[in-house]
Amino acid sequence: MRAAVVTAPGECSVREVPAPRAAAGEVVVDVERVGVCGTDVEFFTGEMAYLHEGHARFPMRLGHEWAGVVRAVGDGVDPAWRDRRVMGDTMLGCRACRRCLRGHQHVCADRQEVGIRGGRPGALAEQLAVPVTALHELPGTVDPALGALVEPGGNALRAARAAGLAPGDRVLILGPGTIGLLTAMFARAAGAEVHLMGHTPPSLAFARSLGFTASTEPDLPDVPFDAVIDASNAAYLPAMALDLVEPAGRVVYIGLAGSPSLIDTRRLALKDVTAVGVLSASPGLAATIAAYAAGHVDPRPLVAATVGLDRVGAVLAGAHIPGAGPGPKFHIDPRRAG
Ligand SMILES: [Zn+2]
Ligand SMILES: [Zn+2]
Repeated sequence: MRAAVVTAPGECSVREVPAPRAAAGEVVVDVERVGVCGTDVEFFTGEMAYLHEGHARFPMRLGHEWAGVVRAVGDGVDPAWRDRRVMGDTMLGCRACRRCLRGHQHVCADRQEVGIRGGRPGALAEQLAVPVTALHELPGTVDPALGALVEPGGNALRAARAAGLAPGDRVLILGPGTIGLLTAMFARAAGAEVHLMGHTPPSLAFARSLGFTASTEPDLPDVPFDAVIDASNAAYLPAMALDLVEPAGRVVYIGLAGSPSLIDTRRLALKDVTAVGVLSASPGLAATIAAYAAGHVDPRPLVAATVGLDRVGAVLAGAHIPGAGPGPKFHIDPRRAG
């Protein structure tokens, strides 16, 4: 089968690789759609921390935001999974340690992450093997594009929930990238008034086209924010989130900067603010699928273009993709030519 392989920083090519077989407890999926995200770009540039910590090494097969149809099942897997459209949890905990047994497999010290960590090949290929325990079935109203947006959506749903929003609350989201915009959509669905802060005019214009108010830092409106969510990669913004939030409010940290981003915990205590960190979509996947299926949130406008495997290298390199729309997300259909 064909798969995109990153062999070294800046080097990505499509290769013929052995098709996966369904091992015991696993399934093989025909991949229909895969999202490319900031983590994938960090691997492509060589900046991703896991490369330096020994959790990942080249050559790598990326892709963790996917939807597809189960084609084959291994020993011990209910054959009823065959032909179902599914998406899968990126995080694959060991299922035996204390954290896993307490339901926190997404922070298992020995976890694999599909297309990210522990040598588990990702979804930028015609087929993908994953443990059946990672699967979530997609209802008929969730098409492949929506299915591939469940993984980033699960992160965003958790960030919006962590902000504890009630109808009429006002939330500020720092960073109008995919996660920031998805979080904005879930916050709006919770009844909150949403404002986004960014710095490039096209990203702010796109946020406004989705019905949000958006501004640059100097133009930030002087109004109370009941919650502030940092979905950026700027090291100074977590402290600014704490400065901007209303006393007794909430700050949520889902963005990751390339260097330590420090906050003064005296400010946290003196303002009586609750701070929450979010890693991974795992505990939010089922609720995200339900929100998409019910039409409460429709993130498909975020997809700028859907292209074939041969364009993965161009997408990872941030090259101009002809015909692409203004959204921040690129999707790959591994069966599409060009
Ligand atoms: Zn991702
Ligand atoms: Zn574990």
